[in-house]
Amino acid sequence: MRVLNAHTHIENLSKITASNLNCEIDYFVNGTKCDDLDRLIQLNKQPNLKCFAGLHPWKIDDQEMAKLEGFIDRALNEGLGLGEVGLDRARRGIADFEVQKRVLRLQLEAVASRQRGVVLHIVRGWGDLLEMIDSILKPGRNNPIMVHNFCSNIENCRQLIRREIFISIGQPFFTHKDAAEILKIIPVERLLVEEEEMDANICERLNMIYEKISIAKNIDKELLKNICFENGKVF
Ligand SMILES: [Zn+2]
Repeated sequence: MRVLNAHTHIENLSKITASNLNCEIDYFVNGTKCDDLDRLIQLNKQPNLKCFAGLHPWKIDDQEMAKLEGFIDRALNEGLGLGEVGLDRARRGIADFEVQKRVLRLQLEAVASRQRGVVLHIVRGWGDLLEMIDSILKPGRNNPIMVHNFCSNIENCRQLIRREIFISIGQPFFTHKDAAEILKIIPVERLLVEEEEMDANICERLNMIYEKISIAKNIDKELLKNICFENGKVF
């Protein structure tokens, strides 16, 4: 049975060795900057990889912004999804929040008219993000959306569920004080599972996250893997 790892990056792919490719994982592979595009287009041809290209809020600078429009059009024309994009109000030393919003808006507007998935990074700034999603993407229509590495509160979780947005859970989520309560309210048909860091133990670590969720939601682990794999197919 194949298993989905719903979030990693091209930089991490080189860490997969032939031996752990045997554990039959499919990956969502994200870029973070314009120069990632050629490699993502190549990787997207592999049957177990689904690739996303986008300008990440941490990577915004004048050079990247100058390339942005042509880059996004080409990525979408090549059949890639949009990701990893988003807003980050917590990290120091990155682009101004207003600039982040402008960059995100431009990317969401480009993807809105096509049937492509969107991978979101969000650290604080939830109000701005949800407003943009509602005004540009109209979730549930063209664009399946996932919030990767969800670590926020129960109210933001409810906001995502209401909009039929997929919620991707990784290891950091389990340090959340309301983890069990939040997991209970996420419908399995909106759930994805991710392990961003990759090394020789990727299969075991991914399996452990599936196991923790299966216990919290009282659902068979293999069934959960199956459901999450099916969820990933809409992207
Ligand atoms: Zn990431």
